[in-house]
Amino acid sequence: MDLGIAGKVALVTAGSRGLGRATALALAGEGVRVMVSGRDVDSLERVRADLGLIGVDADVRAGDVTDPEEPARLVAATLERFGSLDILVANAGGPPPGRAVDQSDEALELALNANLLTSVRLVRESLPHMRSAGWGRICCITSYTVKQASPVLALSNTARVGLWGWMKTAAHDLAAESSGITVNMACPGPHSTDRMKELGGSGVMGDPADFGSTVAFLCSQQAGFINGASIVVDGGATLAL
Ligand code: NAD
Repeated sequence: MDLGIAGKVALVTAGSRGLGRATALALAGEGVRVMVSGRDVDSLERVRADLGLIGVDADVRAGDVTDPEEPARLVAATLERFGSLDILVANAGGPPPGRAVDQSDEALELALNANLLTSVRLVRESLPHMRSAGWGRICCITSYTVKQASPVLALSNTARVGLWGWMKTAAHDLAAESSGITVNMACPGPHSTDRMKELGGSGVMGDPADFGSTVAFLCSQQAGFINGASIVVDGGATLAL
């Protein structure tokens, strides 16, 4: 299926490895021009080379997306390089595991910054450019913990449900404006990435490339009436609705 987004411009954050990288490659496969951000310069250069093989115009930018100033810098760099911003995939590394009752204020604040506020800042910085174009697609990469809390991921459970509440309300705001912009969440279950290896995950794992294709569909022309949705991509692992 042609997703109808060839020639659009996407910003994919935390895209040097894992699910972000897979999403950048899926979008590029649809002919989308891509700006990829990440912290690790060597991984970013490998992504640049992979995107070059697909043959789309692409660029990378090193930086910590959880720095409160970085979302504005990233959006400005994307506009300077490509002239527009049509698609935002807001992603950041996940918080460390742990029990709820063991979390300090500092740990909670770090998780809320990385996995809630960073996405909010990225959306806020992107919206003016999507509004002026009358079209936009936003997808936040979060976690199945939006639907079903994990006993070992208290920080993820907390921050991602907060982002879900903000995203749902933002979707309603954007629909009320007839903005042509949608905002959704893709919520991964276990996928074989470095993050999953760090967490010691085992058992059946999803292919990051399939996850990237799901995000690309949420950013497609055809997904224009999917707004405020949290799409779980977990192979059936989660039992919550
Ligand atoms: P990953 O650790 O494999 O890759 C994350 C990438 O983002 C890396 O390239 C890393 O360098 C980059 N990154 C991390 N923090 C960054 C920052 N502050 N600024 C810029 N770049 C940064 O992780 P992943 O498995 O691809 O997971 C992506 C997101 O999805 C995370 O939030 C994770 O918690 C969540 N998630 C993943 C899974 C899974 O099974 N992989 C399951 C549930 C949720």
